[in-house]
Amino acid sequence: MRELVIATTNQGKLKEIKELLKGVPVNITSLKDYPDCPPVEEDGKTFAQNALKKAATVAFYTKKLTLGEDSGLEVKALRNQPGIYSARFAGDNANGRRNNAKLLRSLKGVPLAKRQARYRCYAALVDAKTIVDVVNGSCNGVIGLRSQGKNGFGYDPLFIVPEYGKTFGQLNGAIKAKISHRAKALQKIKKVLKEILNSKL
Ligand code: IMP
Repeated sequence: MRELVIATTNQGKLKEIKELLKGVPVNITSLKDYPDCPPVEEDGKTFAQNALKKAATVAFYTKKLTLGEDSGLEVKALRNQPGIYSARFAGDNANGRRNNAKLLRSLKGVPLAKRQARYRCYAALVDAKTIVDVVNGSCNGVIGLRSQGKNGFGYDPLFIVPEYGKTFGQLNGAIKAKISHRAKALQKIKKVLKEILNSKL
């Protein structure tokens, strides 16, 4: 079976991507399987640039079909911050808990009606040295006044999905797998992967 390397060390992301690619006949590996792969500096100015850089760097090293994913949260009241800096919003020692605490601090006093946000995801597929495709997906929501639920990862306990009136932290993974930014981008990747596997490129 053909190998597909997911260029990430983020276990939350990896778990979702594996679930979203279920049914595609590929053997999924990740950076955990390539501990000597050089780290990718995320110095792009956009999600697309970072996704491509991750995919290209890892594909060049592994010589395997590789998926790079860059995603983040844009908050309207914060002029679309943290955006590409979502993972590091709280600084060098950032983690989900610290990032969420900083987000709540940054939005202190902002009413729910003005806390619109959007998750964005870009996914790039690179085969050794060829860019196969770059796709994206987004998902609109509202940043809650407090953390709710333990599902998902990152900002999920704060991200209220208006259609459900609940955060991704409260909703089960099956719902996130249908409507999230990552689900939308990965549905497109799934199609491309099936074409590649059928054409034996
Ligand atoms: P990246 O590894 O630079 O793409 O970091 C993405 C960051 O964006 C994560 O570390 C989270 O902080 C945030 N993020 C992206 N997608 C999600 C999601 O589905 N749920 C929660 N947080 C997310």
